[in-house]
Amino acid sequence: LERQFLRGQRLESLGTLASGIAHDLNNVLAPVLMSVQLLQLKLQDEQSKHLLSILETNTKRGADLVKQVLSFAKGIEGERTTIQVGHLILELKKIVQETFPKSIQLCTDIQTRELWTISGDATQLHQVLMNLCVNARDAMPNGGVLKICAENIIVDENYARMIAGAKVGSHIVVTVSDTGVGMSSDILDRIFEPFFTTKELGKGTGLGLSTVLGIVKSHGGFINVYSEVGKGTEFKVYLPAVQAKQVQQVEKDESKLPNGQ
Ligand code: ADP
Repeated sequence: LERQFLRGQRLESLGTLASGIAHDLNNVLAPVLMSVQLLQLKLQDEQSKHLLSILETNTKRGADLVKQVLSFAKGIEGERTTIQVGHLILELKKIVQETFPKSIQLCTDIQTRELWTISGDATQLHQVLMNLCVNARDAMPNGGVLKICAENIIVDENYARMIAGAKVGSHIVVTVSDTGVGMSSDILDRIFEPFFTTKELGKGTGLGLSTVLGIVKSHGGFINVYSEVGKGTEFKVYLPAVQAKQVQQVEKDESKLPNGQ
């Protein structure tokens, strides 16, 4: 666990480093592309045209890559609203049912009657769950069961000690599990690393799970993963719960502010 925690920290700095470099590279590439485009207007001979078009194509490729890296590093600050986890999962269910192969059986278990709420950016949290579902789909090329469920768990000090980055308190836990290929411990150790992928060229960028981790952390949450080769994988996303009572309390307190000061 200690090792896992240290590795987590190392990966986090790697992510920060990657996004820092991407940001600088963006500033480098913009004027390069602009100059290439200006030169294209001036230099009309065949050889210059040819060389400039190579320069243009590759500068654009670089800019695309930078865009991808920056989007995974985003999620530090989003629009915060109170979100009902049940709604988030129902939305996800619709998309999965419409777009995933029929060989994948979807199974959801959410008690919408419970008012389980979290505070966060709905688009980002949707992306978190969608990325996990896409990975689950890719892990089950011959079909299988994709399960999405939510529960309310109180993380106590003993429990928090066992999971890297865990915090004590009431959490909404969304579990996305599959009955797919699973992962060896070597792969499992590296999944949150930016650009780490086992998918064939063009099928994966290796940024899915780094994006997931970035967003979950920026929401004050943490992730736990269980996987067994040949059996499947389970991702548990812990997000701090906003209890219904607390929501009312906060609203009351806020309404007092203007008069009280
Ligand atoms: P990508 O999907 O582009 O490869 P990710 O960061 O989302 O990037 O995932 C990194 C790697 O983690 C994947 O290439 C795969 O090897 C592994 N992985 C992620 N989710 C699962 C899963 N549900 N089952 C098996 N392997 C997985």
